Amino acid sequence: MARYKDEQCRICRREGQKLFLKGARCYSDKCSVARRNYGPGQHGQKRNKLSEYGTQLREKQKTKSYYGVGEKQFRKYFEMASNKKGITGENLLQILESRLDNVVYRLGFGSSRAQARQLVNHAQFEVNGHRVDIASYLVKPGDVISVRENKKDNATIKANIEENAARPVPEWLERNFETLSGKVVRLASREDIDLPVEEHLIVELYSK
Ligand code: SF4
Repeated sequence: MARYKDEQCRICRREGQKLFLKGARCYSDKCSVARRNYGPGQHGQKRNKLSEYGTQLREKQKTKSYYGVGEKQFRKYFEMASNKKGITGENLLQILESRLDNVVYRLGFGSSRAQARQLVNHAQFEVNGHRVDIASYLVKPGDVISVRENKKDNATIKANIEENAARPVPEWLERNFETLSGKVVRLASREDIDLPVEEHLIVELYSK
């Protein structure tokens, strides 16, 4: 059971980076990466040199875990990114950042992306006044994301607001805890995204 509870931390330890999968614990000194920054399992302390393919694969897996997206959806986002003008890797990250569950997390209404996804699935939010319960919904500049009127007493959201008040909101979003809402000022640029990933390696992997 203990192993199961640590499953998300094992993902971070495998990648050797904090991926913020668990909410408050990720920001505390209880974080497993902070305490044991080596791979999980019996051979975790041996860091084998990865092949080119292995390195590309790890970058993709890390990004998927960070945003909590499955392979099929991730591939779909890659195709969308390839069809957009600009740099494919940056387009890919921008699309992932635009997911409603990520936006709810970034605004501080969810303690982790996984929890934000659950809150969205349970219809706690609306976009431009319309109920949206699809975590993969992609926001656009000008969209206003709000806690629905009859959900404003949700204890989890209230606790998250208190806990995340000091967590900075990226510049592409505006947050208003008084009205329990947030606005998409513009789409995220690469500089706004704090995920330490070499996205060009994902592009190379999918381009083989
Ligand atoms: Fe666990 Fe969060 Fe630390 Fe990752 S960042 S190891 S999920 S506590």
